[in-house]
Amino acid sequence: MDALLLHGGEVYDPEAAGAGGHGALRRADVLLVDGRVAAVGEALSLPEGTRAVDCAGLLVTPGLVDLHAHVFVGQDLGVDPDVVGPPSGTTTFVDTGSAGAHLFGAFRRGTIDRAGTRVRAFLNISSIGATSILLAGELENLAYANEDVCLAGAREHADRVIGIKVRASGNVVGRSGAEPMHRARRVADTLGLPLMVHLGPAPPGSDEIMATLRKGDVLTHCYTGFEDNRLSVGGRVRESVLEARERGVVFDVAHGMSAFDAEVATEMLAAGFRPDTISSDVHAYSLDAVGDLPTVMSKFLALGMELEEVLACATLKPALHAGMAADGVGTLRVGAPADVAAFELVAGPVAYADTRGGTFEGSRRLRTALTVRAGVIVHEALKEGRQ
Ligand SMILES: [Zn+2]
Repeated sequence: MDALLLHGGEVYDPEAAGAGGHGALRRADVLLVDGRVAAVGEALSLPEGTRAVDCAGLLVTPGLVDLHAHVFVGQDLGVDPDVVGPPSGTTTFVDTGSAGAHLFGAFRRGTIDRAGTRVRAFLNISSIGATSILLAGELENLAYANEDVCLAGAREHADRVIGIKVRASGNVVGRSGAEPMHRARRVADTLGLPLMVHLGPAPPGSDEIMATLRKGDVLTHCYTGFEDNRLSVGGRVRESVLEARERGVVFDVAHGMSAFDAEVATEMLAAGFRPDTISSDVHAYSLDAVGDLPTVMSKFLALGMELEEVLACATLKPALHAGMAADGVGTLRVGAPADVAAFELVAGPVAYADTRGGTFEGSRRLRTALTVRAGVIVHEALKEGRQ
């Protein structure tokens, strides 16, 4: 029996939260046995040979679930999930369209099936995937946005594909306009899977994008600052956006290299429009801007969100929207995969930058102290004197 006890931490259990996300934090031990959560509580009875890790003063949470990332190793954008995951407390990445149907086999064999970190994916409507974000858009040539090819790819890899992705913005679609988005919509509907649409410069315009999105679909890059397509104008969130939220459309951060405008975020948060999920959009070109997922989460602490809500946005909520929460991902439910992270909440002034030259200040930040994936410690940066 392989048993690990995370002892004496401040445990964040998202499923223990009441209305408003409160009540989910309590002092407790977390016992992990044979790759599963065995118990959360106090004075637990321990199997013989249990290794204990002192987590006093640390925030112990489900392993983070990053709903928007690019982890197709060897592809232009891709970063290695086993390199960026463990030091960031991230145990699950959802790759968002790095691969289309014609490359998914390579992505699967080279990365998904090999990585220790859990990887699931939105399949790009373009068969070539987000092959080169710097040279040309994958949807400029509509021939690549072939619905039958995308359907076949999604069906072949149904155990790994959780939705369909379309980068519906002018810098990706060129003259194809909204057509790729409508094709992606039809494929997602045929499969019964969510559609993730990225927001950038028009076309398509945000109202047309909102009209395309339904309950469970994801609008990613929600705090983007492209002037012709931002989701709030003059302090008011667009009507089409409010209606979409009402319908159950999911609004995801996806910070990335150009998609996080602190002014837009501040304005929308002040209007009460908080994100459903906080994701990094980490990739080879965004690493410097993103840092890691806990840094992106810390930015939302700085912008005034409460700790428990920020944690929910990177654990249970993305797992729910990615269809993985039923298996316990993003939770500390008994029987859930033993994916756990521990963070230090470091007090002190911290300066943040957005992706458009803006800066703002925070007073605390999350620093990853420990990452456990499937019951195995994959990152350990505990203070001396622990254990
Ligand atoms: Zn992305």
